[in-house]
Parts: sequence; C-alpha cells; structure tokens
Amino acid sequence: MSDVPKTHPRYLSLTLRDTIVAAVEQGITSIHGLIAHGRGEAFDYLIGEETQPFAIEAIHAAAVMLLSAEHPIISVNGNVAALAPEGLIELGRVLNAPLEVNIFHTETGREERIRDHLLKYGAPDVLMPTTEAQLSYIDSNRKFVHPEGIFKADVVFVPLEDGDRCEALQKMGKNVVTVDLNPMSRTAKQASITIVDNVVRALPLLCEKIPELSSDATTAQDTLKRYSNAAVLQQALQHISRSGDGN
Ligand code: ATP
Ligand code: MG
Repeated sequence: MSDVPKTHPRYLSLTLRDTIVAAVEQGITSIHGLIAHGRGEAFDYLIGEETQPFAIEAIHAAAVMLLSAEHPIISVNGNVAALAPEGLIELGRVLNAPLEVNIFHTETGREERIRDHLLKYGAPDVLMPTTEAQLSYIDSNRKFVHPEGIFKADVVFVPLEDGDRCEALQKMGKNVVTVDLNPMSRTAKQASITIVDNVVRALPLLCEKIPELSSDATTAQDTLKRYSNAAVLQQALQHISRSGDGN
C-alpha cells in the first residue's frame, strides 16, 4: 500500500485505488478492472465523491425490489469483490440471498480466488459458474451461471455491470439492480434500477435500508410504483453538468 496521509483531500479515493491495485496483484481483479475503476473514479469526481439525492432515491427503490424478490441474487465480479467484500456479505445476510461469482475476463483460477476471498471475509457460501445453466442472448464467459443462483433469480443485484449482460438478463425477464457511477453507460440506461454512486458508499446504505422496510410492505410497494429510473439518471446528469459551477 502507498503511504497516503489521512489529511490528503482525496484520501478515500486514493485508498480505493490502492485496494484495487492490491487486488490485481493478488489475482482477484483483472488488469482490465483497473480501466473500469478509472472510469468510475472520473465520474465519482464529477459527482462530488458523495452520495447524492438521486442515489438515495434509487437505493430506496432497490431495497424494496430486492426485498420483494422471490429469488434475489448478488452477482460479484473482481472489482466489487476487491472494493466491498463486507458490504456484499452483509447484503446477502439481510436479504438471505446467495453471492455468485460472475466475471468477464477469465484468467485461470480467478473465479476461485474471488470465492476464497469472499469466504475469508465470512461469506457463508459462494455460488460458482457452471456449464449446466447458461444465460441466453450472451456469448461471453458471463453466460455460464449457477442453476440455483443467477439462472433461477427474478431480481439480480449486479454492481459495475457490463451493458451486454444487463440486456441479456432483462430479456430473460429478470429485473436488474445495478450500481454504476456513469449515468450514461448502457448498463445504467438498461437496468430496472441504477444507483449512481460509488459501490463502497452505496452498499452500506442499501444494507441499512432493507431492515427498515420490512415492517411496511404497502408503503414500500408504492415507492417502487412511483420510481422512474430515467428520471433518476436525468437528475444525475443534471448534477454532473452543474458540478463545473461549484455546486
Ligand atoms: P456499459 O457496458 O454498461 O456501457 P462500460 O463498457 O462503459 O459500460 P464497463 O467496463 O462495462 O463500462 O463497466 C464498468 C462500469 O463501472 C463503468 O460504467 C464505471 O463507471 C463503473 N464503476 C467503476 N468503478 C465503480 C465503483 N467503484 N462504483 C460504482 N461504479 C463503478
Ligand atoms: Mg461494457
């Protein structure tokens, strides 16, 4: 780890950069993941590196959708495993949903290293891709899924997703909840709910929200009915375009 002083104004961002570099060295995150991280950093800079109201609104709707799912699943790639293992495990716990490894770049043994990393952080179980169950409408390695996980799921929580797979999941009739700092990505536009925030900030907020909802199902469903992902993305874009004015 580099020696970033805590007083540095961008301490957290630089710490996350160290975390992702260390995960590449451990073979958890793909080297391509560094590029994805850099794109995320750029948008986080524009967003102000803080959770904004449009993200809070999406987190609320996401909590309702995940809580009312029959078979929710949490899809994990190398970037998210590196940045937020504890948040993923906590989300699995509050939803009683499994974690499933699903990655685009398959270097030998990386899926197993992600699983072992999550187990080390205390995940009770981690589902792995199989050749028994495959997603339609997708050609990459990400089509291989677990029959009891992503394949069976009605709602898929998949942060830092690739646009192609988001579309494939939707075509298979699944709802997709994503976290993506870029409100213009294909994933952000196609998902049912897009939380435009850094996954390290959004996950703890989502985990806190879920138990708060459990007691009032009707009000919760109203939240979902009123929710418009297009409107939330529009708010995010407006926020970014105002960021140059010092807001
Ligand atoms: P798409 O395929 O959806 O058009 P893309 O090809 O631009 O997206 P990918 O590399 O497929 O991007 O996915 C990475 C996405 O994850 C980017 O949109 C990036 O902004 C976002 N991202 C990276 N790091 C984070 C993070 N820590 N939190 C939230 N989002 C992030
Ligand atoms: Mg992509």
